[in-house]
Amino acid sequence: MMVIMREGATDAQIEHVLKRIEDGGADVHVSRGQYRTVIGIIGDKEAIAELQLGAFDGVEEVIRILKPYKFVSKEFRHEPTMIKVGGVTIGEGFFNVMAGPCSVESAEQMMATAKAVKAAGGTVLRGGAFKPRTSPYSFQGMGVEGLQILAEARKEFGLPIVTELMDVRDLDVVVEYADIVQIGARNAQNFLLLKEVGMIDKPVLLKRGLGNTIEETLMAAEYIVKGGNTQIIICERGIRTFETYTRNTLDISAIPLIKQLSHLPVILDPSHAAGKRSLVEPLTLAGLAAGADGAIVEVHPDPENAMCDGPQSLTFEHFASLMGKVKKAAPAFDKVMGQVS
Ligand code: PEP
Ligand code: MN
Repeated sequence: MMVIMREGATDAQIEHVLKRIEDGGADVHVSRGQYRTVIGIIGDKEAIAELQLGAFDGVEEVIRILKPYKFVSKEFRHEPTMIKVGGVTIGEGFFNVMAGPCSVESAEQMMATAKAVKAAGGTVLRGGAFKPRTSPYSFQGMGVEGLQILAEARKEFGLPIVTELMDVRDLDVVVEYADIVQIGARNAQNFLLLKEVGMIDKPVLLKRGLGNTIEETLMAAEYIVKGGNTQIIICERGIRTFETYTRNTLDISAIPLIKQLSHLPVILDPSHAAGKRSLVEPLTLAGLAAGADGAIVEVHPDPENAMCDGPQSLTFEHFASLMGKVKKAAPAFDKVMGQVS
């Protein structure tokens, strides 16, 4: 259920409604918009009806949220969620490019990449320290040492960092170093992990699972919001289909669809969607045209010798050229390029 307060409802009126709901034992979530406050309630429908919230001063309407996901839905909150992290604003109206290698391999590699990403206009530095690899024999990431290297690169170049959290046991250390915590495609329905990142005070980059529907993706985001963390960026990174020329199939329609259904920012990952360097640029531009709020792109100083995902990684030159095209195209889609302030 959702309680829509009147325009100009006072803080005291809002508090009074909240107290009544909390005393009734239901889960509550408040969204304070520019004009109106909306209070979402999750709990037994009959019990909520008995609270008689429609009779409270300042209440305009009490209505049901029809979608299975509640707090991430547009019904609950109409204004787009804007995420501010390390001097960067992510969300509606902006196009932010996060870039970096698949995995952190050395300090030299990260420093060189951070410099190139920043010079080309990227606003967030990516790099995996804990890697979800298909084969247990593949490089699994540098772990905490990788996080420390990322932090050094942030210090030197002033870019916030995004890195993946794979396991609840690494939560504290990843949260200590990361500015944005990534939940990868393989953990998109790891509900225990989602609940844990719902309780942290850092934005979460939530990838769509390889075989997850849009609704399942929004339900995964709902797990995070339910814990109290509303700072979520959803990432379309391609899904499994019968096509084998690409690593995954970028579901371009997921971008405008999720933006229609939810107030959360949506970005795309053309690198993991395509698995091929030559497709990264066209897919990024397609994502921009489809309304994405940004992209996360793999860039490596020496893709041929990358320890992970070399075939889809861009060289610095290629990344700079991609950024040039994105910058030119962005205004046509009412987007301003993100900046680090
Ligand atoms: C990644 O971004 O490094 C990654 C493994 O992506 P995904 O979870 O989308 O496969
Ligand atoms: Mn990768």
